[in-house]
Amino acid sequence: MSAFDFDLFVIGAGSGGVRASRLAAASGARVAIAEEGRVGGTCVLRGCVPKKLLVIGSHFAEDFIDAQAYGWTEAGASFDWPSLIAAKNRELDRLHGVYLRLLADAGVTLLQGRAKLAGPQRVSVAGRVYSAERIVVATGGWPFLPDIPGIGHAFTSNEALDLATLPKRLAIVGGGYIAVEFAGLFAALGVAVTLILRGATPLRGFDEDIRSTLAEEMAKKHIVIANRTRVVSIARRDDGQLRLQLTDVAGAPENALDVDAVLYATGRRPNTRGLGLEEVGVGLDGDGAIVVDAFSQSTVPGIYALGDVTNRMNLTPVAIAEARCLIDGLFHGQPRAMDYRLVPSAVFSQPPAATVGLSEAEAREVWGQVDVYVSKFRSLRHTLTGRDEKVMMKLVVKRDDQRVLGCHMVGADAPEIVQGLAVALTAGATKADFDGTIGIHPTVAEEWVTLRDKRPEPSL
Ligand code: NDP
Repeated sequence: MSAFDFDLFVIGAGSGGVRASRLAAASGARVAIAEEGRVGGTCVLRGCVPKKLLVIGSHFAEDFIDAQAYGWTEAGASFDWPSLIAAKNRELDRLHGVYLRLLADAGVTLLQGRAKLAGPQRVSVAGRVYSAERIVVATGGWPFLPDIPGIGHAFTSNEALDLATLPKRLAIVGGGYIAVEFAGLFAALGVAVTLILRGATPLRGFDEDIRSTLAEEMAKKHIVIANRTRVVSIARRDDGQLRLQLTDVAGAPENALDVDAVLYATGRRPNTRGLGLEEVGVGLDGDGAIVVDAFSQSTVPGIYALGDVTNRMNLTPVAIAEARCLIDGLFHGQPRAMDYRLVPSAVFSQPPAATVGLSEAEAREVWGQVDVYVSKFRSLRHTLTGRDEKVMMKLVVKRDDQRVLGCHMVGADAPEIVQGLAVALTAGATKADFDGTIGIHPTVAEEWVTLRDKRPEPSL
């Protein structure tokens, strides 16, 4: 009989923590998981799932208009934001119940309360101290807001998912996943959105063709993109509106912007404060993330961390995969390092974007010579609607052995399509494999297997 209360103690019941606890329990380990809020974590409660439901809900606005091109008459459709929020919340309640059941069925002990390390193998929760042979920290992250005058007037994606009413004019600050996704969904619902970012185009780090195409498409949907712009301060005017003082990135003053609300989506920071980590010697980096090795072990043997709290690649399926690698090592004698090379990801903008593998710039840096195929076209759907929305598809191919290094897409269903392409890239597909694949006609996706014309080399 072990001298410890538990074989594994997981702190944080989000996607990564829940998966780690269930996998460990399935191998016969005695497992506890501590959670101070509701079980489910960012993805289920404050991120991916509720956001996607709102994105789906908002897209009907355009669908109703487009339907008229297909013989439907306007049905006098109207939209009620509180109904959408209530429906979304009902689904979150259901998912919360599913998570509770999954933990219970797996035999994991759920401890409600804020957990804190009380030693290298001790955790306190709600006034009780538990001993554990191993500890996994999976406490996720939280929105980061820069410290500027009036920042208290801003809200984050957490609150954006539960606004009581829709603002008429909304400023969104940031140019990452969250900023772009919320810009799309609020604009679709008729909110006048200004996206304020310090870069030239949104989504730094993504392939340039994704960035430029998305910026064009967002502009067509009446999102005003204030690029190379910073917010200096936010103040509440007498009439209740918010006034944002703007500068360009070099610091030259620009116009003020008056809005009803301002959403900050300026990144997230790991949740590591007040957990007792430093006290037991767990190393943190400059952003407060737990430093781990390739096997998710922290600087203290027996204490592990995974998911957003490690700030490696902050995506739910990655946290889940990190959990599987860790538990395979700890309880099945098969230590595995997570492979981050071909992780696909999607941005649920309108239209959405999705990507797997290297951007053209990354591919050139790593491999030198690459072949690039790009296609930009109007989908069959919009031949009748006349909507000026373009699909962009781009293939980056290693020149010497013709291996496909990256696929990048902007357009309806891009996330669904690129998920399939990720299998091909994981299997090491070459351009010839793409060319030898028969298309499904008529689809947008068939373009992936008929790309013939290389883009001319950029002039140096
Ligand atoms: P990101 O890191 O994606 O983007 C942050 C944005 O904020 C960048 O545009 C950045 O600009 C800008 N920024 C940072 N600091 C400041 C500042 N002080 N002033 C002005 N702008 C600033 O963060 P998000 O908040 O969008 O999302 C957090 C994470 O959540 C993502 O990294 C992603 O991993 C995950 N996520 C994934 C989703 C998905 O898979 N669909 C959806 C939503 C979130 P710059 O580029 O110039 O640095």
